[in-house]
Amino acid sequence: MKCYVCAKQGVDEEAVAICIVCGMGLCLGHAFKEEVLVRDIVDWGLGEERVEYPHPLPRFICAECKLAIDQRKKAEKR
Ligand SMILES: [Zn+2]
Ligand SMILES: [Zn+2]
Repeated sequence: MKCYVCAKQGVDEEAVAICIVCGMGLCLGHAFKEEVLVRDIVDWGLGEERVEYPHPLPRFICAECKLAIDQRKKAEKR
């Protein structure tokens, strides 16, 4: 697979990752790595406990999808 962003600019670049949101192929220069916390909600019977694990889950996304996700993160903080 080729990098979609490079291909649009007429550059022939091999893809090293795939955006998990839109599925486009991305080269090293166009792939962004997002780290997502791994969470569980454990029900002990007496109530629920939210557990967060120390090792995050890596996900590759493109610039456009990163922008779309980042704007939502900002909205959530308000
Ligand atoms: Zn590229
Ligand atoms: Zn994408």
